[in-house]
Amino acid sequence: MRIGVLALQGAFAEHEAMLQTLGADCFEIRKPADIKGQPMDGFVIPGGESTVMTKLLHGLGLFELLQGKIAGGLPVFGTCAGLILLAKHVQGGITCFPCMDITVRRNAYGRQLGSFETTALFTGLGEVPTVFIRGPYIECAGENVQVLAYVDGNIVAARQENILVTAFHPELKQDVRIHRFFLDIVNKYKKEKEKPQSRCG
Ligand code: GLN
Repeated sequence: MRIGVLALQGAFAEHEAMLQTLGADCFEIRKPADIKGQPMDGFVIPGGESTVMTKLLHGLGLFELLQGKIAGGLPVFGTCAGLILLAKHVQGGITCFPCMDITVRRNAYGRQLGSFETTALFTGLGEVPTVFIRGPYIECAGENVQVLAYVDGNIVAARQENILVTAFHPELKQDVRIHRFFLDIVNKYKKEKEKPQSRCG
């Protein structure tokens, strides 16, 4: 499996290390040539600052390429700012790709004191460690969105088909289960794509 990791800001190296531990082949995305014509089975949008990342994506000519990939069904995993970039509605910020049917509150825990660690019950995985760094949470999710975890009654992880998001940073702990969950999605989509097309009808 070949996974791209957007390497403009944030903990992209930690994402890569975790995915490599799980056997994925990773490469960094910084410019269009990194993905144009290159095989890519899925990609990760790490944390950072969502307004800066949005501007960089446009400025570097990556925005339309990645938007096309998401629309084409390529699996994408967004953490923290990555979640904000994928949301259709953003309170206190701007939208980027708007593709996931969620409303997100940016800096939801306050700007300065918004960093903390706790655990959350993640559907299908059990208790997982969660690190929040000036993170968002999901205020509401459409019916096509599967909610995967809550912290203090707020949605902090969710999935909509090929899109997986967490408001926290799983890459900053040693627990690889959420990255494995993402790679399982990638695997499923890859197999589906490789299936011979039916000639019926
Ligand atoms: N507060 C940041 C934003 O709104 C996200 C923080 C993070 O990714 N750790 O973009």
